Amino acid sequence: MRLTIIGCSGSFPGPAGPASCYLVEAEGFRLLVDLGSGALGALQRHAGLDEIDAICLSHLHADHCLDMCCYSVARTWHPEGPRPPIPVYGPSQAAVRLGRALTADPAAADSAGQGQGHGITDAFGFTTITPGTTEIGPLRVTAERMSHPVETFGFRLEHAGRSLAYSADTGETDALVRLARQADLLLCEASLVEPGPGGPALPQGLHLTGRQAAQYAARAGAGQLVLTHLAPWNDAGRTLDEADQAFSGPMSLAASGMRVVLG
Ligand SMILES: [Zn+2]
Repeated sequence: MRLTIIGCSGSFPGPAGPASCYLVEAEGFRLLVDLGSGALGALQRHAGLDEIDAICLSHLHADHCLDMCCYSVARTWHPEGPRPPIPVYGPSQAAVRLGRALTADPAAADSAGQGQGHGITDAFGFTTITPGTTEIGPLRVTAERMSHPVETFGFRLEHAGRSLAYSADTGETDALVRLARQADLLLCEASLVEPGPGGPALPQGLHLTGRQAAQYAARAGAGQLVLTHLAPWNDAGRTLDEADQAFSGPMSLAASGMRVVLG
């Protein structure tokens, strides 16, 4: 199983790369996890647009899903004709949300070109995620609800005895420990930095700091930690320092183009 970070910028694209998008490959199968703002461009350095086999969307915030609209255009208007629909596993309302974002005509929003061969559901075949485990190609995928203002799923991906856990966007939740238990790699968001003395309290049910991400890696017994969803306005070095105090295993900051091979 191989992970390539396509985009890891938190909440909006940054100067060094796009918003959230991760390419996971096993046995030649290519799964995208999230397809956030700007990710479709960087993706093409690592995989052809015809080479994606399935997509999992953690949640419907713009920085995790909105390049699905551009991708539907690329597939629908391909010079050799429309490409076949790709299976997409997402929260309920994913097709509606993306269909509305795709069309400039509010009156046609709910159909969004459906039936004319250029709607979001012509480019993608949507399946609603529920908590539990399913097989996607050669990957075993377990979804858990996370703690975030909209319906959000974290994932555990397993293949050939190796495992990768992805926090998605989340505040503190024991679901993250379950997803990451003994995982070879925890890809965990670290959007926030710890407030200084007398600073405001951390928001609940929203995001994690580097320290909190590292504490989850330690509690879960994860083999290594990659900190992601890094906000451009934060000092990434500070995030890494915070995490370093709470997890003794190998850790790194995610970066667009970074690749990790598991197994
Ligand atoms: Zn979010």
